[in-house]
Amino acid sequence: MNDIGVLVVGSIAYDTIHTPTGKIDDGLGGSATYGSLASSFHSRMTGSDKIALVGVVGKDFKSEHIDLFHQHGIKTDGLIVSDGETFRWEGSYSGNMAEAQTIDTQLNVFEHFSPVVPDGQQNPKVVFCANLHPAIQKSVIDQSNSARITMLDSMNLWINIAQPELLDVMKTVDMVIINDGEVKMLANSENLLEACDIVQEMTGVKFLIVKKGEHGVLALHDSQLISLPAFPTRNLCDPTGCGDTFAGTLASRLALGEGDVSLEELREALVHANVTASFTLESFSVDRLANLGKDEYFERLETYRKIVFGE
Ligand code: AMP
Repeated sequence: MNDIGVLVVGSIAYDTIHTPTGKIDDGLGGSATYGSLASSFHSRMTGSDKIALVGVVGKDFKSEHIDLFHQHGIKTDGLIVSDGETFRWEGSYSGNMAEAQTIDTQLNVFEHFSPVVPDGQQNPKVVFCANLHPAIQKSVIDQSNSARITMLDSMNLWINIAQPELLDVMKTVDMVIINDGEVKMLANSENLLEACDIVQEMTGVKFLIVKKGEHGVLALHDSQLISLPAFPTRNLCDPTGCGDTFAGTLASRLALGEGDVSLEELREALVHANVTASFTLESFSVDRLANLGKDEYFERLETYRKIVFGE
């Protein structure tokens, strides 16, 4: 029986983050952590199918953090605990915190990670490959068959050091989520729309979702466009994980439907993605996201709709 809404693969990390307002050492992070917590918030709120996590951690990974996944209803059968230390990333933000500068990346247990998608989880509604080495993303895609959509997120590091593998895996998915700087870098063009066209041509990807940080998102549904702003906030603490929260939400909302994804459905999913991401940046690590309440969520969703659509 298959009751998986979103199968998430990505990094599970301890992050050290410097921002103009403070610092956190070894906070729980990683693309799959933010992604699966965001997906599970929406799957619990809508009473839909379960979220399953595929990833690796080291022996130093705290049991309270495994418990956190379980408390959020995230299945961890595909989470391997390996000899060695958990992946670590250190990053810093300055100015308007638009972009993280990587200070240090320690792959640790990721170096020999070979993901295994557990039996019974190979046919989820949505396969979501959060930011990770493209070869590992490909291995998960090869082991699974999404009933609706396969999506992929990436980062500038892989464009720099693993571009052929990244392009290879991009050719196999329905949706690519990428930021504006990355799409320009990949296409070698400074014009955003031209860069999108080039990337769609290079990969044949149907849905291209371009994150623009505080400026929101531009989405290509085949060749039709959606443009939405971010939720404006004064409470910016740490933007780490916003992109993963955004993508995890999108995955979960798209797991609710059947058949082809309409333009309207994509727009609605992007509204939720923007609103959910706006909570992640209000705290370090996953604190705000993991403790997000339904009422405060709906209040902000309503405010967002008023700002954007005047509803
Ligand atoms: P975001 O801010 O949404 O782009 O993602 C931030 C998360 O990405 C952090 O929690 C990091 O642990 C994770 N991350 C940073 N570098 C890498 C990498 N090379 N591979 C996988 N995950 C990474």
